[in-house]
Amino acid sequence: MSIELTEPIRITRKGFDYWIRVPLSDESHAIVYKDDNFGDGPVLVRIHSSCLFSEAIGADDCDCGHQLESFLDELKTSPGLLIYSFEEGRGIGLLKKCEAIGLQQAQGLNTSDAFKELGFSKDERDFDFAAKLLASMNTPKDIRIESNNPLKIEALQREGFNVKQAHLDMNRTPEQEKYLHEKSKCLGHIKN
Ligand SMILES: [Zn+2]
Repeated sequence: MSIELTEPIRITRKGFDYWIRVPLSDESHAIVYKDDNFGDGPVLVRIHSSCLFSEAIGADDCDCGHQLESFLDELKTSPGLLIYSFEEGRGIGLLKKCEAIGLQQAQGLNTSDAFKELGFSKDERDFDFAAKLLASMNTPKDIRIESNNPLKIEALQREGFNVKQAHLDMNRTPEQEKYLHEKSKCLGHIKN
């Protein structure tokens, strides 16, 4: 079933026009693209969860903000879509994320162990809605996803997409490298 979306609105970023649509039933998600004439694919896709600290404050501890920036830049030349969702801390919310970071800092736990300590799984997010949103945009079946997260890839495959991984090419700080190493170790992320 197709998800109903707002009419596209235009925003200009770094001198380039992008288009935004929001599902009528769920304002915690937004779709961002440059051109909805995607051709036959493969189309570049990123399912991105909000990260206040890196996106708004520029924190060095994780690479979310950098990934988002470089993906939006990439959309200037490659057909693709960003699904942005307001899901802090892999879906546990901002309050619990702060608690988890507090535990990490006080007890030296890694992210996954801090989540466990608070009674959460390593990743509380559900990517089925994001996959349905992509389908609602008439996205070609062949997609390349900028992610190492197997949960995202599986959700897209369930929605009938043929998923390939796109290479994330970025300069990372030592803190980000450490975090990525932890993600690949604890979450089964495919490190590249
Ligand atoms: Zn982050």
